[in-house]
Amino acid sequence: MTDQNSAQKPVVKTGGSLSGSFRDQFRSASLWDHLASPARIWRSKISWRITITVFLTILTVQAVVLVVTASDFKTQKLHEMRQLARVFVISSLGDSDNQLTAPLTQEAADRLFSETMISGISIYGLDYNLIQVYGETVVLRPSASTDATLQQLSASNRFYEVVLRSHEIRRPYHIAVKLYTAGIAPQINQHIQQSILIIMLLSGFVTSVLMLVLGQWLLEPVMVLRNNLLSAAQNPEKPDVRRPRRETRDEIGMALRIANDLIRQNAHNLRKLRSQAEDKIHKLAYYDNLTGLPNRTFFLEKLDDNIRHRVAEEERRLAVFAIDLDHFKDINDTMGHEFGDKLLEAIGKRLVKALPAGSLISRASADEFTAMVVLKEEHSDTATLVDQIFNAMAEPVSILHERFQVRVSIGVAHSPDDGMEARQILKNADIALNRAKEEGRDTVRYYSEDFDLAVQQRFQMLRDLRMALEENQLRLHFHPQFDLRSGQLIGAEALLRWWCPDNSKEGGRFISPADFIPVAEQSGLIVPIGEWVLKTACKINKQWQDKGLPPFRMAVNISGVQFHRADIVALTAQALKESGLDPKWLELEVTESVFMENMQVAIDILNQLHQLGVELAVDDFGTGYSSLSYLRQFPIDRLKIDQSFIRNALINNDDRMIAKTIITLGHSLNLKVIAEGVETVEHEEFLKAEGCDEVQGFKYTKPLPQDQMREYVINHNRTMAQNTTLKVIEDKNA
Ligand code: C2E
Ligand code: MG
Ligand code: MG
Repeated sequence: MTDQNSAQKPVVKTGGSLSGSFRDQFRSASLWDHLASPARIWRSKISWRITITVFLTILTVQAVVLVVTASDFKTQKLHEMRQLARVFVISSLGDSDNQLTAPLTQEAADRLFSETMISGISIYGLDYNLIQVYGETVVLRPSASTDATLQQLSASNRFYEVVLRSHEIRRPYHIAVKLYTAGIAPQINQHIQQSILIIMLLSGFVTSVLMLVLGQWLLEPVMVLRNNLLSAAQNPEKPDVRRPRRETRDEIGMALRIANDLIRQNAHNLRKLRSQAEDKIHKLAYYDNLTGLPNRTFFLEKLDDNIRHRVAEEERRLAVFAIDLDHFKDINDTMGHEFGDKLLEAIGKRLVKALPAGSLISRASADEFTAMVVLKEEHSDTATLVDQIFNAMAEPVSILHERFQVRVSIGVAHSPDDGMEARQILKNADIALNRAKEEGRDTVRYYSEDFDLAVQQRFQMLRDLRMALEENQLRLHFHPQFDLRSGQLIGAEALLRWWCPDNSKEGGRFISPADFIPVAEQSGLIVPIGEWVLKTACKINKQWQDKGLPPFRMAVNISGVQFHRADIVALTAQALKESGLDPKWLELEVTESVFMENMQVAIDILNQLHQLGVELAVDDFGTGYSSLSYLRQFPIDRLKIDQSFIRNALINNDDRMIAKTIITLGHSLNLKVIAEGVETVEHEEFLKAEGCDEVQGFKYTKPLPQDQMREYVINHNRTMAQNTTLKVIEDKNA
């Protein structure tokens, strides 16, 4: 099918540089035909210009020719008059003897005047003397000086005078004749009118023929070319390219063909470019650059599709897996981003391999993958698929000559069981994943409505916690720390308590920091809370000192979020300044996780804190992921053995070994070692035997409110003093 035959209307974009009126005209396909029709060609500007130019040119040439021929015509007519006059005159001259004196009789002259156009005659002898005169006076007269044919037109053009020489009339005299020219003018006029008519007809005819030829061979192809170019400008990707009704192989035909080819080629290239760009945009919008897997947007669309068709219509069951790499951030930070990228790529490939064909695997965020499997009979057990994923991760991944063991946490949600809305299902899988991560990682959790409830509760808790901060519902309790050998109270850890008022008969209840600190950390609320804790702890410690209590160290927990997101150095300096507490009576407890985020930044911050004069302890030591080599680089004063090792030291050999190793390691690095979670005498004895420096635990007391703590310190010091006195007396007695 040729372009011309194509039924497709030219698609006109609203943009473009062409005038609106033309665009409107161009919208109609039938108008196109009109544009290239002969009528249109004749009405075209170029056509008019050529027509008028050709017509006027022919007219001008003909007019010049007419002027020339009209003059010739007049000359010829005058000549004919002269010849006629000669004939009349000769026939009127008699052959009498008195020819020389009276060649013409009055009678003959009168006849001439009445019957011919002759109105006057003067006859001269050969000596040029006047012999006879009849009728009107003839001004022209022969002379010897000129032999030429004498003739002249009167100024008014009414008379024409000629001299007939003797040899012309074959008589021995010359005759001057005056002739009326009245008969010539109409003839000349008629001649001119006829000529003009012919000229007009000829010009019209020539112009018409020329225009027909030009129209077909030049104007129509040019019009078609113009329309094709307009169409290409309007709609470059799908121009309505047409051919003239008769194609020629001349220069114009060739030019049109080349132009049409170029327009089509351009349209083809543009379409190709657009489709490539669309492909690229589609890829960018729907695929992950790194792994080449679909992204979250694509996944959600497909999930929605599958829920509507496979689940709703075909009544199939569908499982969605949210898969998260455990500790990917740590891996990325310690091994570098190149390594992290390669790891993600490898994991993506493994997941694709692990799940059955037809599954959709996507990379949803940095280290989270999602998978969707429409369950068939043989895969109806989602647990089998989960096993396949875990098995795929079992083999260490080899990257940059390193073998790396990857662990993942998985959350699973089903449709229709857990919802019929794509976002809901994915959210539920994420909730299950979070549960898996909270409950130790490297595990799977299947979504249950209770999880949802837990999430709701968290949101509620966050709202309440915000209010708690504003309404002073936060308190500090203090957990004493002792020198293990002397039993001296050497410090206290400030522990946050949230007194949440309710309708119970107690008027409220304490919420454990273990419950609300993670929520505060996730929401960033830990920053203002931590600020309050630090300032309050410093203030209380200084108050105790001012009231005469022997000074001791106040340990304050600093969350990783607070350490990296807030200016902890400035805050500490401010808390010390505001309270007036000597920095040596303040200790900050940080967990190993703060070293993992950004080692260099952590070293800088710790150094600055140390320069303030405060002490630094590593809390929950032994539970973190970090290597021991970092210890040397940090300005730390104290290792705090996690209570889980102490609790299990007497029943679990591994934990006992870990506790022992931490004490030895701490001492080898010149650090003090404090054990928390000391609940029994056996714990204390074990730690004494291993040379641990300091202790904290329920064996001595539970964490105490401010007033009770003060009393506790006073009582403890009193007891210590009594014991010392008793010992001195005993020693003396001994
Ligand atoms: P942590 O810093 O390791 O604090 C020690 C926790 O162990 C305290 O629990 C303390 O009451 C408990 N503990 C100490 N000795 C014994 C013992 O012998 N037996 C038992 N069963 N428990 C013992 P608490 O007060 O519930 O605090 C839990 C965690 O909450 C803290 O662990 C700390 O990580 C966090 N936390 C508490 N207060 C703050 C705070 O002000 N800021 C920040 N960022 N975190 C805090
Ligand atoms: Mg602590
Ligand atoms: Mg601890």
